[in-house]
This record gives sequence, structure tokens and C-alpha cells, in this order.
Amino acid sequence: MAALFLGIDVGTSGTKALLVDRLGRVAATTITDHPSLFPKPGWSEQRPGDWWMSVCKAERGALRKAQVAGSDVAGVGLSGQMHGSVFLDRQRRVLRNALLWNDQRTTAECIEIEQRAGGRARLIRLVQNIALTGYQAPKVLWLRRHEPHVFRQVHTVLLPKDYIRYRLTETLGSDVSDASGTLLFDVAARRWSTRLMERLELDPDWFPPAAESPEVIGTLTTAAARATGLKRDTPVVAGAGDQAAAAVGTGVVRSGAVSATLGTSGVVFAHSPQPVPNHEGLLQSFCHAVPEAWCVFGCMLSAGGSLQWAREVLFADRLHAARDDNEHDAIYDDMIKEAATATGRDPLLFHPYLTGERCPYAHPHACGALSGLTRRHDRGDIIRAVLEGITLGMNRQLELMRASGLRAREVRLAGGGARSTWWRQLQADVYGRPCVSLRSEEGSALGAALLAAVGVGHFPNVPAACAAAVRTQRTYHPVAARTEHYRHLAKLAARTYEALEPLYRREFNRLHKRGQSN
Ligand code: ADP
Repeated sequence: MAALFLGIDVGTSGTKALLVDRLGRVAATTITDHPSLFPKPGWSEQRPGDWWMSVCKAERGALRKAQVAGSDVAGVGLSGQMHGSVFLDRQRRVLRNALLWNDQRTTAECIEIEQRAGGRARLIRLVQNIALTGYQAPKVLWLRRHEPHVFRQVHTVLLPKDYIRYRLTETLGSDVSDASGTLLFDVAARRWSTRLMERLELDPDWFPPAAESPEVIGTLTTAAARATGLKRDTPVVAGAGDQAAAAVGTGVVRSGAVSATLGTSGVVFAHSPQPVPNHEGLLQSFCHAVPEAWCVFGCMLSAGGSLQWAREVLFADRLHAARDDNEHDAIYDDMIKEAATATGRDPLLFHPYLTGERCPYAHPHACGALSGLTRRHDRGDIIRAVLEGITLGMNRQLELMRASGLRAREVRLAGGGARSTWWRQLQADVYGRPCVSLRSEEGSALGAALLAAVGVGHFPNVPAACAAAVRTQRTYHPVAARTEHYRHLAKLAARTYEALEPLYRREFNRLHKRGQSN
């Protein structure tokens, strides 16, 4: 009997294919690259045909690595970069390159959406989120305004992973978590917002039906079986956007479960049994990949990215002399050692807003700062302040979620920052919550594979699949006195930022105006 489940994650830099067995153990993973195109400043595109090629390559690689046949795969789950747009014509041919989540060309369309919706508060009421340049809806409006000859031929608009579903099964479909990131989805009601589509004059028939993530919504065609080496008629589940799929892969699938992922950016993600109010639109409030559950997450732009910056500035010589990735990474270990032995006696604050900020402040003009420097501070103090500043920023996201009524029982730690045990303990102290490290971290591709295993009936539901597959390693408990100390630092950091913010705003506006007149 077929004994494996395949997860496919169509990421931005590449595709990851992962096989899990019936006990939830990872049997093999492979990653293949696909190219990105930047035709103009701020534009970011990819060719859907390149995704398809990298999916076939990654998936065949995973079968080879695990030394199994395609017929051993009992189900396929899809996950992928969110928000992108693939435009198809009536014959379902790709009309142009896909616009990606990190494409910045749609500022005017975001304003237009807010206006047509009847204001920001009304937009939040319709789709629970505010308009961000990365989302799919502004991209469709951009096409209408700037490429009307293409727009006239549009018959279907898909998200990236749903284009792969179409190539695998010839089914047009999506799932509720990924659809939430289009800005055209009524997240609270778990269905497309035809009301917003009407206001934007978009045809509801362009958007495919959105199912719950573990639902089987297609089976492999003969042509896809030939291209992938999998068996014809293999079931494919709806799957999930990469954030929700990663939450399944880290076990954030029950009330009280939260994850903190310290990659280049810093994402705090919480499960919720009901739609989460998002009054200021600072958080993203989406449907979860768990049926009848919702999620909320925030993203700070420079989390691990701030530590990376500190490494470049403070360890430039060593960085240039390093011969490989291991030597690069070893610098992080030494930085953490230095931070751990720093005295921390005079409060030194770091604001991690090196590339502007998205959450807890939606301030593109925000800047980083080190404040409170004295003659007694050394390099270790500065590194420590950077680590503390990043972690305080993550905690502000947790506080925003608490203010929306969510309780975090424990925080699951993920991303490159979770490799350091010292930083794990710092997170526990700052969050004032037990923090749990995971034995391995496979993220979205694992989540997609588990959704497939649930969809074909191997596990009764998503939490049961996570209980089998996601293994925790160690719990870090907060030390009360340190939590108290960090509450004090958090207040100081917020007050200093609030004092500086009007200056950043003024300077940003001045430079922006000058940039426009140049
Ligand atoms: P990406 O977002 O690029 O996928 P990762 O999840 O790999 O990133 O995380 C990269 C970040 O993790 C780095 O910028 C750095 O801040 C942090 N990091 C990497 N290795 C370590 C380490 N050994 N100790 C502490 N932090 C680390």
C-alpha cells in the first residue's frame, strides 16, 4: 500500500519537496532553484513555467533520495509563497509573468482599493485586512490600468501554488488560508468577498473555489503523472499559503499555540478558534489551514536581519576572510557568546527598524537607533542590545495579539535565530512565557505533506497529524526577575522611539519630496 505523503512548497528562491512516512517521519527533502526577474526597480516577477519545472525536479529528487517509486505516494499537499498573481486566458494559458508578494509597484492601487471600499475601516470589515502592496488584488488593478491589452484576455487569476495544482490536476482551486492573502476574501465568513469584488469591478468567476486546506480537490492527470513520475489519480489536497502551512509544520494548530520565527524578518503567528479582530490592520488576520480555525500574524522586517547587519558592521574583517557558510555562521555563535558575557549594567537600547517597519509600527519611515550609549559599553553590550531590541520587537507583536484577546500558553521557536540556546532563553525571558524548541524544522513543506496525509484519511485531523510528526526538543522557562527587567526596557524603548518618530517622519517626507522633484 502507498505509504508516503508528498509536500511541495513553491517558495521565492526555490521549490522544496518533502516526503513523510505513515509515522510522520521525514523520509527525504530536496530543494531546487527557480529564477527571479526584476524588470524595473521595485518590480518582482517569476515565470510560472519555471515553477512547474522546479516542482518536477524537486519531487523526482525526493523520490530518488528516499529510494521509492512514484506509486508509493498516497497523497500530495501544496504550499507556496502567498499573494502572487498568475493570469490565465480562456484556454488557460499563462498571459504574462507572475507578479510576486515582494513586488512594490501597486502603491496607487492600494489607495484606490481603500477608496472604492469606502475607507480603511470598511475595507477591514469586508476582508479583515488593510491593502498592502504585496497582495493579489492591487496587482489585478495594476494590470487593468497599465496593461489593458493583457487584462482584456484574463479569464482566471491564480495564486502561485494553485497554478501548480492546475498543472498537476487540471483543477482550478485554492484554499481558504492562501485566498485570505488576496485581499478579496471575506476571512470571517471563509468565502470570496463578492461585495468587495463588485466595488472593485472584478469578475468573481476569475477566482477559483476555495476549499478547506486538507480537502482533496483534484487528482493527478495522465500528463502530470508522466511529468512527475507519480501515479495517475493520486489525490491532491487544497494545501495552504506558506505561513499557515509552516504553522502546521511547527504544530501551531490549537488554541494558545503561538510561534516566533526569527529569520531575516520576524514573524509571530497565533492560532485562533475564531476570526481575530484587526482594528488597526497592523496584523494579518487570515483563515488557518486547520478547518474552522483562524490565525493572526505580524511581521517585523529586520529581525535576524538586524543581527546580520551587526555582523557585517562589527565583524567585517572576519566575514571577508571566511571561506564558507560554516565560517560565516560560526561568527553568529561567537557574537552570542560575547553578548552572553556582556555586563548589561547600563541600559542600552536598540531599535531594529533598519528597513522601516511593518509591525508593531506600520512606519516605512522608521529608522534603527542605539540609545543610552556610555563610555562603559563595549562590543558585547552592543550585540546584546541588538538581540534584546529584536526580541522586544517580537514581543510587541505578541502584545498586539494579547490585546485582540489571544492567549499564548507557550511559544514555539523557529527560524535561524532559534539555533542559539542563549537567544531561546532570552525569548522566554522577554515574552514571559515558556518557549519550546523543535527537534527539526521543515516548515511549510512538512505542513503541506501533513495536510495531504489528513486529506487521504491517514490522520483523523490536522492536530493529530502534528502530534505524530512535530517533535519538540526542550522547554525554556522565563526567569521572573529578568521578565520584569525587560518590561522596563520595553517601556523605555517605546518612549524613545515615540520621541524620535516625528523626526524620522519629517526627514522621510523631505527626502521623498526631493526624490520626486529630481
Ligand atoms: P531566512 O529568513 O533568510 O530564511 P533563516 O531562518 O535562515 O533566514 O535565519 C537567518 C537569521 O538567523 C540570520 O540573519 C541570523 O540573524 C540568525 N542566525 C543564523 N544562525 C544563527 C546562530 N547560530 N545563532 C543565532 N542566530 C543565528
